[in-house]
Amino acid sequence: MIQIGGLQKTTLIDYPGCLACTVFLIGCNFRCPFCYSSELVLPEKIKLQPRISKKDFFKFLKGKKGLLEGAVICGGEPTIHNDLPDFIRKIKKIGYLVKLDTNGSNPEMLKKLIDDKLINYVAMDIKAPPEKYNKSAGVKVAIKKIQKSIDILKEGKVDYEFRSTIVPTLQKKEDVIAMAKWISGAKRYYLQNFRAEKTIDPKFEKIKPYSEEFLMAIKKEILPFFEVCEVRG
Ligand code: SF4
Repeated sequence: MIQIGGLQKTTLIDYPGCLACTVFLIGCNFRCPFCYSSELVLPEKIKLQPRISKKDFFKFLKGKKGLLEGAVICGGEPTIHNDLPDFIRKIKKIGYLVKLDTNGSNPEMLKKLIDDKLINYVAMDIKAPPEKYNKSAGVKVAIKKIQKSIDILKEGKVDYEFRSTIVPTLQKKEDVIAMAKWISGAKRYYLQNFRAEKTIDPKFEKIKPYSEEFLMAIKKEILPFFEVCEVRG
C-alpha cells in the first residue's frame, strides 16, 4: 500500500522539459549501498519518516494545476506497490503528465502502466553490468526481470531514459562500457556522478567521486551507442 514519505513541490530537473513536482514513495526492494534515500528504504529509518497523506497530496496537485505540468513518481521503488496504477490514474485524472523513476525490477507493472497509458516518461536505473548487479543493488537481483524492463522500454511505446550512478568502488571504466553495450541502441543514457552524502552504507560517504573529465571521456566512447548520452552532475 502506497505511503508518501516526501514531496518536492517544484523541480525543473527531475522531469526533462517539464515543470513538475516529485513525490517520494516509501519502500524499496533493493539496498544499493550508495543510495541517498535511506529514509525511504531501511525499515528502521522508514519508521521515523514523517508521512504526507494522500488526501493532502491530491489537494496539492489540484491547487497547482496549470502551474505545474508533471508529477514524478520516485522512491524508494514505486513499482513494488500494487496500488500504483490507481494512484497514478488519480494523478492523470487531475491533468498531470507522469514520469516514473524505477529500478526496473517489476517489468509486469511497467508493462501494465505503459499499456494502460498511465505514464508519459520512464527513467530506469542501470546499476551495473549483469554479472555484477547484485553487488551494486545490495540484494540478489533477477536479471531476467531487469532485461525484460530494458526490452519493454526499448520498444519505444513510452518516452524513456536509462541512467547509471557511477561509483568508483563499484564500476570501473570497463564496467560503464559494458553497461552501455548492454543497453546499446537505447534512446537516452545518462551517467550520473556519485555524491558522497548520507549513503545506505556509511562507508560510501568516504568515497571520492570520479572527476567530471573521467566521466566525459567515457561518454565520448559510448556516445555512438545512443541517440543521446550525457553526463549529469
Ligand atoms: S538507489 Fe537503490 S536502494 Fe535507493 S531507492 Fe533506488 S533502488 Fe532503492
